[in-house]
Amino acid sequence: MVRAEKVVKRFGHLLVLNEVDLSVKRGQVVVIIGPSGSGKTTMLRCLNHLEKIDSGRIFIDGELMGYREVDGRVVEDSEANIARIRSQVGFVFQRFNLFAHMTALQNVIEAPVHVLRQPVGEVTERAMALLAKVGLADKASAFPHKLSGGQQQRVAIARALAMNPKLMLFDEATSALDPELVGEVLKVMRQLAEEGMTMVVVTHEMGFAREVADHVIFMDKAVIVEQGPPEQIFEYAENERTRNFLGRIR
Ligand code: ADP
Repeated sequence: MVRAEKVVKRFGHLLVLNEVDLSVKRGQVVVIIGPSGSGKTTMLRCLNHLEKIDSGRIFIDGELMGYREVDGRVVEDSEANIARIRSQVGFVFQRFNLFAHMTALQNVIEAPVHVLRQPVGEVTERAMALLAKVGLADKASAFPHKLSGGQQQRVAIARALAMNPKLMLFDEATSALDPELVGEVLKVMRQLAEEGMTMVVVTHEMGFAREVADHVIFMDKAVIVEQGPPEQIFEYAENERTRNFLGRIR
């Protein structure tokens, strides 16, 4: 579902991704952990072409993301094609980014109706089912400011799912929440994982990583330092940087 090869990303002189490879199979949950500033969020944003990469290649379900080759040269892809591929990938941000002037339901139906041009009736029915799935059937007509952070984030997840994505990317989806609200969002993410959604999750929630991930990636200073199944990373990490990081945050 995802194949990233030697992805390099710089911000000015700062090298943020140094030839990072990443591969995610259909139905797999890959969790990326690591210290702040190691490049996790940037990697996720590159997968969706929210950031341009300096070199390397990213394939989403076999399609080159963000670029195309013309006469052996790599050029940026058309807006339309980028948008088409991006519409197959759900992105959940740390800050929920709901449209403040729209109800929960309107937030969820917005993209399928206005981007995919699907019929309102059909989309509304699906959106109600998605709100129920994230435990918010009774909040369909509530505006974001009337919802808790956890509820807003669950609406954001429902909104992403309304596009029927092949892949879901979660960028520290619980980091901005009060501690007592983290669990309800992780529960929805766990449920999605159990249903077989392909997911790449950047998180500081080590319990979640350990229980839900099929594969854990530890990043530090722009590279993947170590990766493997959760038990290998959490119990038998070989690299000292991984062990230090896990020791510090436990
Ligand atoms: P992480 O998610 O692991 O905390 P990030 O990917 O957010 O790391 O950031 C990696 C590095 O890139 C950090 O040093 C950060 O300050 C820098 N960075 C991130 N986004 C930008 C940007 N838009 N402009 C300049 N520097 C950035």
